Amino acid sequence: MLDSLRKIVQAVNNAEDFPSVLNIIVDQVKSSMNTGMCSIYLLDKQSSRYVLCATEGLMPEAVGTVAMTTDEGLVGLVAERAEPLNLEHAETHPRFSYFSESGEEKYSSFLGAPIIHHREVLGVLVVQQQQRRKFDESEEAFLVTISAQLAGVIAHAEATGELARTTSPDSDKSRDTAYQGIASAPGIGIGHAVVLSSPSDLYAVPKRRSEDPKAELRQFRKALRSTRSDISAIQESLTGTLNKEELAMFDVYLGLLADRSLGGEVVALLKQGFTAQSAWSQVIIEHIRTFQRMDDAYLRERAADVRDLGRRVLEHMQQTSKLDRVFPKDTILIGEELAASHLADISLENIRAMISARGSQNSHMAIIGRSMGIPTVMGAVDLPWAELDGLPIIVDGHEGRVIPNPSRKVLRAYKALYRDEQTLAKDLLATRDQPCVTTNGDPVSLWVNTGLRMDTQLSLEYGAEGVGLYRTEIPFFLHERFPSEEEQRLIYREQLELYAPRPVTMRTLDIGGDKALPYFPIEEENPFLGWRGIRVTLDHPEIFLAQVRAMMRASEGINNLRILLPMISNTLEMDSAVALINRAYMELTIEEGFRLEMPKIGAMIEVPAAVYQTRELAQRSDFLSVGTNDLTQYLLAVDRNNPRVAELYHSFHPALLAALTDIHREAKAANCEVSVCGEMAGDPLGAVLLIGLGYHTLSMSAANLLKVKAVVRQLSSAEMQDIAALACTLPDAPSIKAELNKALDRPGITRLIRSQNTAPLLT
Ligand code: PEP
Ligand code: MG
Repeated sequence: MLDSLRKIVQAVNNAEDFPSVLNIIVDQVKSSMNTGMCSIYLLDKQSSRYVLCATEGLMPEAVGTVAMTTDEGLVGLVAERAEPLNLEHAETHPRFSYFSESGEEKYSSFLGAPIIHHREVLGVLVVQQQQRRKFDESEEAFLVTISAQLAGVIAHAEATGELARTTSPDSDKSRDTAYQGIASAPGIGIGHAVVLSSPSDLYAVPKRRSEDPKAELRQFRKALRSTRSDISAIQESLTGTLNKEELAMFDVYLGLLADRSLGGEVVALLKQGFTAQSAWSQVIIEHIRTFQRMDDAYLRERAADVRDLGRRVLEHMQQTSKLDRVFPKDTILIGEELAASHLADISLENIRAMISARGSQNSHMAIIGRSMGIPTVMGAVDLPWAELDGLPIIVDGHEGRVIPNPSRKVLRAYKALYRDEQTLAKDLLATRDQPCVTTNGDPVSLWVNTGLRMDTQLSLEYGAEGVGLYRTEIPFFLHERFPSEEEQRLIYREQLELYAPRPVTMRTLDIGGDKALPYFPIEEENPFLGWRGIRVTLDHPEIFLAQVRAMMRASEGINNLRILLPMISNTLEMDSAVALINRAYMELTIEEGFRLEMPKIGAMIEVPAAVYQTRELAQRSDFLSVGTNDLTQYLLAVDRNNPRVAELYHSFHPALLAALTDIHREAKAANCEVSVCGEMAGDPLGAVLLIGLGYHTLSMSAANLLKVKAVVRQLSSAEMQDIAALACTLPDAPSIKAELNKALDRPGITRLIRSQNTAPLLT
């Protein structure tokens, strides 16, 4: 059974498209279980019926015709109960119903397993047998295992629209498909896709067409010539080192590059109008698949050789193809893994939005998106990004949604939203010189989270009163090695000077978790609970000392520096870090003669242990800063970057409100200043809650500052306290959010807090 499973999984992985996946499954399950029939029924959401989509054993004409609701037939019963059903005499069951189109009457025994993804029954996998037979436990388990494997594939097909095309091929073809990713920078972006591929990644080559097939052919031939001469040179240099058989491998390579082999197939695609890079990658990927499907282990491994050869040729083509990409004025940048270096040749005003198939809310591009106010969606794993070049596309940065080729109706709706947002942004600009005070005159300090040089302009323009969080890992990401003390000093000096005399809170290096430096990889099974933040820098005092020395030297004569320590989970870490900072201060002032004021030192409260030790940490700190991003993740045990559990990640969870209440009370008891620098502070609803709970300094992305200010200016402290008090009595996050929306549903505020629920636009 295990071997059958392995074979089926392998065949599914190599399948060309979704219908092939279904056919492989019914075919292989039928033969592995030695049954008379195997069929897959999939849910058509429009009609709420389970449609027969693939079969081995029923009449082929029944595919697409036989369908049932959860009230009909045995398949409907499996879907309704979301449980397997194993019957020896199916025809005697009260729910048995006969579909003449299927030719089903021949079958007597029935075993059906639901295909469930995220609690939803997406389909039913059925086997039937002519002779009466009770399928045994291991057979039932086998079918359940296959169904579980299939669930992921079907969910993917659902995301790509393939499922809808399979279950109702004649339905509205223009139905909009929305791909889900991680909402990483808010806003709506509407424009045309420009796909940026990573060098020599065959799978990252967009399917593009060319107007000049002859030029493509020339480019291809040139790349082949260069690769051939590379291979011959390697072969020559290894003669004498490798034996004859090993050297013969290079001849195989050279043979593959010949016109009658891969070259010929590429030329055929060039004639169809594909670019050289696109044609080459399609041919190579197909050959890799063929090798991977082979039963013989030696031949299977040859897939790696073909991939290597493919990369070499592609690299040559990418070197010769001039970067003459045109970036239209409404560019939506798309890539498998967008990186800051991609922005080098593009004028930023032309970028309407960014989408990356990989990455998370904390990826560098997400941070750039937030600080530049460019709507960004990261982690759009299902998006067929390589096929989108040049297509019209909508990016919904509020919901993390991407809609390629939108219908006119959806485009119109999103354009209206976009216009609303532009008007709101303009109106908000008018408030930038007004103070952030409640209607009863209580001031609220709005600070900014920064990390990039380009954050500064917007922050200052919007009237930030200080920097609540300068993420020093960002300049570290931009280097190819740890920046030296002097390099760091220059970077920090610039920040401190730009904001002076406003305070600048510099957080010491917070790497680990999902933030890995390319030159200091940390590979762990469970990185969020591993070597992160202060744990890394205390283990590397040389890195920590160089950083705090650079910060202090940078602050000479300005003295607006505050130092913040990330991921503190016990008092000993705090004591050790403070001791190192004191040591650096003494060395600089006493031994090296710098004239410095001792910076204030603060701890981040972002893990549950720190919540329970707020008072002890406050006694050791000049200030505390609550990192609600990590605190939510650790308190709720929900990975902040995992789309699968994104619905559970909620900063309005009652547990978080309870923690925030306790932190504030304990910090006040210790007479220690406390602020919030997580994303919650930049969400107008979150800000109202936080102010109501007593927090009067909030640090956020510059792009959110004016919106939060506009809300604060329309509410009194008492109103916010009442709202927060009521929220704290509610049992779950959705109720709290609903209550906040209700309490703040008043003219002047609604448009500021409206969460852009765009889902209805797509139905
Ligand atoms: C946080 O965890 O809330 C925080 C502000 O830090 P970061 O998002 O950089 O982890
Ligand atoms: Mg954090």
